Amino acid sequence: MDERTTAVATGCLRSLDSRMPELEALYEDLHRHPELGFAETRTAAACQRWLRGAGYEVTGGFGGTGVAGVLRNGDGPTVLLRADMDALPVAEATGLPYAATGAQRGSDGREVSVMHACGHDVHVTCLLGAAESLAAGRQWWRGTVVAVCQPNEEEGKGAAAMLDDGLYAHVPVPDVVLGQHVSSFPAGVLAYREGLAMAAADSFRITMYGSGGHGSRPESTVDPVVMAAALVQRLQGIVAREVAPGEQAVVTVGSLRAGEAPNVIADHAVLTVNVRTFDDAVRERVLAAIGRMARAEATASSSPREPEIVRLSEFPSTVNDEATATAVNSAFGAYLGQERLMAAPATYGSEDVGWFATRAGAPLYYWWLGGWEPDEYRAAAAEGRVDADIPSNHSPRFAPVKQPTLTAGVQALVVAALDRLATPAQATGEPGTG
Ligand code: ZN
Ligand code: ZN
Repeated sequence: MDERTTAVATGCLRSLDSRMPELEALYEDLHRHPELGFAETRTAAACQRWLRGAGYEVTGGFGGTGVAGVLRNGDGPTVLLRADMDALPVAEATGLPYAATGAQRGSDGREVSVMHACGHDVHVTCLLGAAESLAAGRQWWRGTVVAVCQPNEEEGKGAAAMLDDGLYAHVPVPDVVLGQHVSSFPAGVLAYREGLAMAAADSFRITMYGSGGHGSRPESTVDPVVMAAALVQRLQGIVAREVAPGEQAVVTVGSLRAGEAPNVIADHAVLTVNVRTFDDAVRERVLAAIGRMARAEATASSSPREPEIVRLSEFPSTVNDEATATAVNSAFGAYLGQERLMAAPATYGSEDVGWFATRAGAPLYYWWLGGWEPDEYRAAAAEGRVDADIPSNHSPRFAPVKQPTLTAGVQALVVAALDRLATPAQATGEPGTG
């Protein structure tokens, strides 16, 4: 199986070196022109152009800016390859010659600097390179490839938006979902985690209602600042006292706003809260505790009304299907060499790629693509300074090296897809020699 996949991958990827200058130019162009979630119009247009050029049937506009390209190539499984397109409200400080400049209007109307600080430009470039390579070698495999360019991963809204907009009524429902995320591992390396790989994340806005008045007359008011401060303290007890030592959760109050002037008691306070969990039962318990504590603090403070709790985002946990991950990793090892594969721990980061799999009832495999300059990474690792010296995703200094990152990212998607696609009964030509 691995030998066959390696031979077919070699055939599909034989033009990759000659195509790489154009892919690198595309990458630099995407990096220079980052777009915030649901505003990826320029990026989506590039995806549509590229996929059409490679022979895919292309539909745009899923969930706003989402793009899906379909390549039907006979009887066999349907493989969905996913890349996300959105950038972040971060001011770039990489000093790269193709660094992003200029500002855009964010969802709240304010001007913000924007940067591909999570490397989604790498994901798009690798997906388009892989889509093209699979089309070029279509005589050596059978099945259907669905290339998905997703909007708004960062707020956890894009995958659900595409699916709610009828993605699976327009494209074949996949038998497997594959994707990758660039991260600060050494470039050229793929890192993986079988089973539970990334945490579920839930964000909420909680409004605590008081009754405002003069700063000199607290007895005539209900002070939402004191109420919210008590709630912040109380929430710290959830992980400490309601989650077992062997279970894991994070509860973070990311913002707390109330009042405008020292001599005015405000009439409400607004908190935003972020929760990370690995286990559904723990997640339910933590979310229930947050609601219970918010209501109890309101009661304790004689609040005139119940707190309002609004969900801001929901990321499912990312769970890699173990059989799929094991088989694809074996193909990765055969094609790239075992030394370029490394196991990684589960992370508290979150992803919405899982929706494409759960809504299809299909297995998921999502791996990490190393993007950091290998010598710098090894020097930092030798001194135990990876966390201090290597910028993480979302840092204004996050700067994946173009090579071997882009080449490895295209190769990984092609090898993983071919491992899941079928072999034609009568192969035409020898893939390894082309
Ligand atoms: Zn991110
Ligand atoms: Zn990301």
